[in-house]
Formats: sequence, C-alpha cells, structure tokens
Amino acid sequence: MKYVVVSGGVISGVGKGIIASSAGLLLQSKGLVVSSIKIDSYINIDAGTMSPLEHGEVYVADDGGEMDLDLGNYERYLLTTLGRDHNLTTGKIYQQVIDAERVGHYLGKTVQVVPHVTDAIQAWIERVARVPVDESGAEPDVCTIELGGTVGDIESSPFIYALAQLRKRAGKGNFVQIHVSFVPIVPPGASGEQKTKPTQRSTGDVRRAGLNPDLIACRCAVPLDPATTEKIASMCSVEPEQVFGVHDVSSTYHVPILLERQNFLYAISKYLDIPSSLPRTPTQRIADGSHMWKDWVDLIQSQEAIQDTLSIPIALVGKYVSHKDAYLSISKSLEHAAMYCHKRVEIIWINASDLDPESYIDSPAKYHKAWHDLCSARGVLVPGGFGVRATTGMIKAINWARINNKPFLGVCLGMQLAIIEYSQSIGIEDPGSEEPHPLAKNNVIVYMPETDKDKLGGTMRLGKHPCIFQKDTEWSKVRALYGPVSRIEERHRHRYEVNPDMVDRLEEAGLSFVAKDETGKRMEIVELRNHPWFVGVQFHPEYLSRVLRPSKVFLGFFAAATGTRCLEKVTEALEQGCRSLERIDSI
Ligand code: GLN
Repeated sequence: MKYVVVSGGVISGVGKGIIASSAGLLLQSKGLVVSSIKIDSYINIDAGTMSPLEHGEVYVADDGGEMDLDLGNYERYLLTTLGRDHNLTTGKIYQQVIDAERVGHYLGKTVQVVPHVTDAIQAWIERVARVPVDESGAEPDVCTIELGGTVGDIESSPFIYALAQLRKRAGKGNFVQIHVSFVPIVPPGASGEQKTKPTQRSTGDVRRAGLNPDLIACRCAVPLDPATTEKIASMCSVEPEQVFGVHDVSSTYHVPILLERQNFLYAISKYLDIPSSLPRTPTQRIADGSHMWKDWVDLIQSQEAIQDTLSIPIALVGKYVSHKDAYLSISKSLEHAAMYCHKRVEIIWINASDLDPESYIDSPAKYHKAWHDLCSARGVLVPGGFGVRATTGMIKAINWARINNKPFLGVCLGMQLAIIEYSQSIGIEDPGSEEPHPLAKNNVIVYMPETDKDKLGGTMRLGKHPCIFQKDTEWSKVRALYGPVSRIEERHRHRYEVNPDMVDRLEEAGLSFVAKDETGKRMEIVELRNHPWFVGVQFHPEYLSRVLRPSKVFLGFFAAATGTRCLEKVTEALEQGCRSLERIDSI
C-alpha cells in the first residue's frame, strides 16, 4: 500500500481536501486504484451530531456513516464509494482503545497515547486503506490521507506521531507527504508582495512534529511568482520542483488541471515509485470506463467557454444559508447538472425565514427582497433540514412554485413540507409534521418508529436504501431519467416520514407517490403529474451526484428550470447513454 498524506498549515480551510482529491484523480489517471481517508481530530465519534452552521453539511455514505463533508469531495472527484471507517476521528480511536481495555486486551499494561493510541491509528489506517472502493472490487494501490485541522493543534499530535511511524513502516517508495500552506499578499491587491514567512513557519512546525514534507503546495490568490517559489524552496530546504502554486480559480474542478500543468503527478510518482510506463488512462480498472482524465479535462475546459448569460438562477430556500458549506453537496449537484447541460447555475440563496409574512413586521425590506429573489428564480429548491425554524417560509416558497408552474425540488425536509403544503391546498384541516408541529390536528408527516429521537448520534434511517417505482407511473418525469429500471438505490438521512394513513387521501387529490420503499409503506418520491417539474424525494440525491455522473433528480430539476425542451433533451440523452448534452445553447 502506498500513502499520500496531506497536512495543512497557517490557516484552516486552505484546500487540503481538494489537493488530496486532485492527487487521487491524477493517480487514477495512471490506472491506479485510489482510496481516501480523512482524519478529524475532534472527539465526536462522527459529524452526525454537529451543527451545519458550525461544521458544514453532514455527508452520508452508502453504509449510513455520517461523515465530514470532505469525504464528499473524494467521492465526487474519484467516483469511489467510501464508508464510515474512511473518516477517522479521535472519538472513534479512543472508543476502540477504551473498549479493548475494558475487555482486558492490554493484559494489565498501562494504556497510553504512545504506543496504544498511535498503534490503533496505524492499524485502522492499514485496515481501511485496503477496503475496495470502486466497481472493480480491487484492493486499492494508493490511499490518500487528509489530516484535518492545522499542524500544531494539540488534538492532532497523536495522529502526526502515528503518521510518522506509518512512513517508516510503509518504507521508501511508498509514502509521500504534501504540506498545504498559504501565501498571503500584503497589502492585498496588485501591488502587494507574496509573503513566504507563514509557509516557512508551518513547514518548520510539521518537521518539528516529526513529519517531513516532500512537496509543498501553496494556496495563493494569484499564481506564485518564480521568486516566491525560489524563496520557499531555499528557506524550506526543498527544490523549486517540490513547490507548487494553487491560485484562486473559477471552480475547484480546475485544481487538478492546474497542478498537472506543474508536473504534480510526476513529482508524486517519484516518491511513490510508480513506473512511468503505466498507461496514462484510468479506464483499466474502472468498470464503466466513464472516469477518464480526458473526460474531466474536456468537461471542465468546455465549461470555461460558457458565458454567464447562460446562467440559470435557482433559488435555494433554506435555513442555514448564512453558511454555504451547509449545502455543499446540494450546490455541487446543481453544478454537475449545469455542466451536463452546458449551462451555468446561479444559486440564489434565500433565508427561508425572510419569506415568512411574520418577518415583514421586523424587516419589510428583507421580506420584499426575499420574495423578489424567489420570483426571479427559474427553479425552487428546498433542501433538507431539522426543526421548526423557517419551515413556514419554506412552505410559502413551495406553494408559490406549485401555483406558478415553477420547477420545484424538495429534498427530505423539502419533500415533507411539500406534502404539508399540498395537504393545506386540498383542505386537510391543520396539516403538520410531528417534528415541527407536534400539536397539529392532522400530522401528514410522522415519526418513524424504528428510529430513536432521544439518542441523536447515528439513530436516523441512514444510508443507501432501495426505492421501487410503482405500477402505472411510466408517465413520471423523474422515473424517465432513471431509465428502464424499476428499482433504484439512494442515500437517506431522516427520522420522519409521510404518514402511511394519509397516502390514499393525498393520491386521490392528485399527488402521486411514484416510488416507495420495498415494503410499499414508506414514501420515497412524490410528483405532480400536471406540472413542469414538481418533485419531492425523501432521500438525498445530492450524496450520489458526481462530476462525471450527475444525479438524475438534480439533472431533471435543473433541466426543467432551463426549459421543457431541455428536460426532454436530457431525458433523451440519458436514454442514449450520453455523458452530456451536445449543444443546447439555444434552449
Ligand atoms: N427533519 C426531517 C427528518 O428527520 C428531515 C431530515 C432531513 O431533511 N435530512 O425526517
């Protein structure tokens, strides 16, 4: 097993995940099977109980693992399928060590951070790195390991110690370490100077901690001056070829291309002893052959040529919009769909509370602006969420979309609120959901008995579950996109569901539950037939959307927002297995 370890310094959020994903993508382009591990040094077992406002979205794996959002980057870039164990946290390691201690595993020894915790970390990495992650079922050749946070944090020291030992165990030719740093420009602007001191300091910190960066990737607003590269190289005792610049680009999908232009793959391959004669195509082991470096470059470069005038405004009506990372997979999925259609997406972030008539009293300006934004959008998306706050505003947005024939997509909570909205419109008295409205007269959304609402971590209905298209739903627009299959699988994360006792009444009133779970009792997809696109899904299609394989649900929604003809074209293109629309600029 070969390892690519990515650490970060100076500031957090410097882009380690994207650089690790880019390294993975370039290694895949050589035909290697690449896996990815993310280390988070927090004590939480997983990200499941963390606030989206503080930590961004919770990313859900096939196996139901609730993970850090960076794991989504790996799956999106590399077309891999990771599991809960690919996200290693201090909480998981200590839980394992303490459980082992309780059953007498350590035979009377004093259990210590070194060697017991650090050994457990290495054993975890070595075990998980070998788990197959793609359709080939082959054991990975390389595993990237992203060390969350910045080097120097107290919490990360056991991980750094363990990685330094892992470097020895892996042996020469099997380990490369990339340190991602930040080069500020002082004063900011064209006349500013690129400052190398933070990079020098943080590289020194990594060395003092026991790791030795082989490559230094420098994030900077603009391309690195050759003089900056030289200076970093000489002050950090590396060669200029070991220093890479990653400047701001219009989309993170350019980063692998940017790095490759600087011979990044060649540099990594040298440390990993990867023969240069491996064919430079990734198709060998990826079964459907769709994941090709060439496809990536073509797609990303063709996107460059698309003008902003081809941008489709989509309203994202949520409660965490002040923190855009809370909807990372959603915005990525919209981007993937837009790329497929050779368009751009302009996400209009609307704070759902501002649409609530009650907010008018506090701030009429905000209320009017929110409604103006909603009305100027070509599609309305209500994403997942928890609790009662802002649900009135979301229901208002859904109502507007339904009545005005605007394409609407409701994801999870968004789907549940669409059911409430429809129930209101057909005269069901005081319809609600047990989550936000425990005292409503008619709860159309109810608590799922098998989940646990008192214990929060890992107790929802999580991960991949089948959804079965129902009889006589061939007319369904969303079904058409999935092709001739009647059973699909999507990832879930919810505690509430459509009340099975209300289904008949809602169907009689015109709402169609086009897909249900395998028991037929749990509603998975709801759709309105006589509407350009009114679809609610109980699952989260955004977790399975990939750069080169966009989610069908998002694709349908985005295409419908672009225009009915675009939706027809996309449906046709998918039927024929096209990887993107040829040209629909005129639509
Ligand atoms: N809060 C809702 C539930 O638990 C919706 C969850 C979500 O949107 N992820 O069912």
